Amino acid sequence: MTGILFDLDGVFYIGDRAIAGGASTLAWVQKQDISHCFLTNTTSKPRQALADKLTDLGLTTEPERILTPPVAACRWIQTKLDGPTALFVPSATEAEFNHLKLADRDSQQPVAAIVIGDLGEAWDFHTLNQAFRLLMRQPAPRLIALGMTRYWRAPDGLRLDVAPFVMALQQASGIKPLILGKPAAAFYHSALEMIGATAGESFMIGDDIQGDVAAAQAAGLHALLVKTGKFQPSDLEGEITPDGLLDSIADLPGWWQERTPP
Ligand SMILES: [Mg+2]
Repeated sequence: MTGILFDLDGVFYIGDRAIAGGASTLAWVQKQDISHCFLTNTTSKPRQALADKLTDLGLTTEPERILTPPVAACRWIQTKLDGPTALFVPSATEAEFNHLKLADRDSQQPVAAIVIGDLGEAWDFHTLNQAFRLLMRQPAPRLIALGMTRYWRAPDGLRLDVAPFVMALQQASGIKPLILGKPAAAFYHSALEMIGATAGESFMIGDDIQGDVAAAQAAGLHALLVKTGKFQPSDLEGEITPDGLLDSIADLPGWWQERTPP
């Protein structure tokens, strides 16, 4: 079945400003009854908060249509694993995991998975070592990373994000992480599963030539690039060719109708 996966930032809004035509395109997608969802690497906000932000911008959708790394991780664990999960994620994110059987970080029992998010200031030797000890239990748990962002820019300067801590744990334990977040194919496949669509018939629409277009194509989807958000003309000079190019999300209905004549 055909589906559309939408990136959010740079496609429907930039910061707190809506991109013109986004609301009418979303209304068109809803009216056409095209399976769709929204994909974002944001881990700092639960999806209800993201849905509220969209509503404020005139884009009404259900929180269930928003896929974030914590939600993808939760779905993956629920369908693939049996035992308890230990969380190393910020408290704002913990609520997304409340359907799972959880283990304490200092549990003496084996766990099925440990989930690593951006703990920020809450990381210290003790906490990192708790994660390491759980990874060394037998049978070894899965190591799940909520994205692999290396660092971000906070008001006071650059700050370590999730990737360096995941890499430290991988280095010590020898366990390769499963990354749930763009650009990992597993994240795209989780979104397709959520809306019951197949990769070969589906489209990713984003403003990031690497993280949206190349990554979605590598996961077997078609990908459209919008010329808003972080788009730069030089994006089109490299080796990645989007399956379609839109001046903005406002142009999707026109592009779509030309693609599939009624
Ligand atoms: Mg984006």
